[in-house]
This record gives sequence, structure tokens and C-alpha cells, in this order.
Amino acid sequence: MDNIKLKARAKINIGLDVVRKRPDGYHDMRMVMQTLKMYDGISMAKNHNGNISIKTNLPYVPDNENNLCYKAAKLLRDEFNIDTGVDIDLVKYIPVSAGMAGGSSDAAAVMVGMNKLFGLSLSMQDLMERAVNIGADVPYCIMRGTAMAEGIGEKLTRLNPFPECVVLVAKPGIAVSTRSVFGKLRLTEDTYHPDIDSIVKGINEKNMDMIASNMGNVLEDVTEKDFPVISTIKSKMAENGAIKALMSGSGPTVFGLFENIEDARKAFYSIKKEHIARQMFITDIFNV
Ligand code: ATP
Repeated sequence: MDNIKLKARAKINIGLDVVRKRPDGYHDMRMVMQTLKMYDGISMAKNHNGNISIKTNLPYVPDNENNLCYKAAKLLRDEFNIDTGVDIDLVKYIPVSAGMAGGSSDAAAVMVGMNKLFGLSLSMQDLMERAVNIGADVPYCIMRGTAMAEGIGEKLTRLNPFPECVVLVAKPGIAVSTRSVFGKLRLTEDTYHPDIDSIVKGINEKNMDMIASNMGNVLEDVTEKDFPVISTIKSKMAENGAIKALMSGSGPTVFGLFENIEDARKAFYSIKKEHIARQMFITDIFNV
């Protein structure tokens, strides 16, 4: 095999809670993760110059060793003493710096691609154990589907598939740094924490009402305070029939879950009319 094409899918957080700040500066999290059908396209081809090369369609995504695709390819090349190089062509659709794990998912796909291209025979578990060295969300991006993530995000428990629904993704034209959102987060006795256990129960019982009424993101208040456009987008989705609208990760992407495509389209056009989102996609839940 000399080349391979892969789909690196986006994720959303159905629930996101920060349990505590650890002495090492990281945060202990409890998150319910869900993969979406929307994806970045990745083509990988072996080359004979012995280098890892990266090409991307976006000028503001690194095309060098800072790209997570590069780090993923290098990690496995070093471990397995592979001399052959690899050309990686990355076509980004997943919004960047948006809370949708785009870079982590690209890295996960490259690890899967390297495993196949070079016949490494690593299991999913083997890949996930190595993936955490690239980023906390990368093991989940290898696993995909519906999962509970704990620790810094690397302790994963597979959940029942999420109920089918249409997802509207809207990213306002602002950049949010994950680091600064965590820096501004103050956990006090008054902090509202989403009930992650009830979301998990709702998923396992396929009870959308129970899921929707418990969905929440502890980082939403922090990001919304700086960027009220997030609440405006959420309200537009709710007014147009969203079962629930929520910010994903540290933001600023907002997603809405809809029973049908008609409602999702109505919300899409009502947000478009106000010019409050830079990028919008209608997509579906991806279950493994
Ligand atoms: P998360 O949901 O994990 O917080 P994110 O959506 O906030 O991820 P990414 O889109 O993954 O953030 O990328 C954040 C930064 O990482 C970008 O500013 C970019 O410079 C760098 N980066 C490295 N590799 C990639 C990649 N393959 N795709 C996008 N960004 C990348």
C-alpha cells in the first residue's frame, strides 16, 4: 500500500465539566464526547525522500512540524524506525481553534493512516495509548463515537450510541484561546456544574429529554461573558426548534441538536440573516 485517504471527524461536547485544577496545572475533566459526520480530508502517500511533508488549504494552519499531523506521523516513524517519508495533504473543513478537536482528530487519523500504510499491526488500544503524547483529546479521536472522557480527557468509557438527530454547527468570527478560557475559570461553591451522570443515564436509556435537560458546559459562562454573540446564536437556535443548543469545548463554536433538517435549516437562515456566524454547517451524529 502506497497511499491512503482518511476522514478526520469533528467532535462536540454533549456535556463538559471541570472537576478541579490539579497541582500540575492541568484540569480534571468529566466530558461526554460525540463524533459528528463533518470531517477534514487527509491523503497520505509514501515518498522516497525520507521526509514528512504537510500541505494544507488554509494559510493560517501550520504546514511544518507544528502541525499535529506531523507530530503524529513522526511519533510512529521514530518508534518503528521507518525511513520512508510521507506526504500529508490536509483539507480543513472543521473550524480551527473552535472547540471541535480539529487538530486532534487530524492527528488521530494520521496515526491510523501510518498504522495501515506501514503495516504496523497496532490495535486501537495500542494507538490510543501512544496518542495521548500528542494531546489529551487524541485518544478519543481514535476511538470516536459516544464516550465519557475523564482525567485530562484520556480515560475513556464507551457509551451507547447517541440518538439520531440533525446538528447545526455555527462558529462566530472570533478566536478563543483554550488556555485563556481555562485561565479565567474560577471554580467556587456557586459554580454551576452540569449533571454528567444524568447525561450518561439519558444516553444509555436513549432518553433525549433527559439528555437535553442535563446538557451543559462549565466553560460556557467564561467564554460567553467575553463574547455575548454565543448566547445570541444559542437563542436563535432555540427559537427555531433546537432540542438544545450549547457551546462546544472552550468555544466559540455553538451547536444545536434538531429533530429534523427543516428546523435546522430555519435556524441556519435566521443566524445567516443576522451575520453573527462566520462558518455554519448542517451535519449529523456519527456513531461507530
Ligand atoms: P480543541 O477542541 O481540542 O480545543 P481546537 O478546536 O481548539 O481544539 P484546533 O483547531 O485543533 O483547536 O487547533 C488549534 C491550534 O493548533 C491552531 O491555532 C493551529 O495553529 C494549531 N494546529 C496544529 N495542527 C493543526 C491542524 N492539523 N489543524 C488545525 N490546527 C492545527
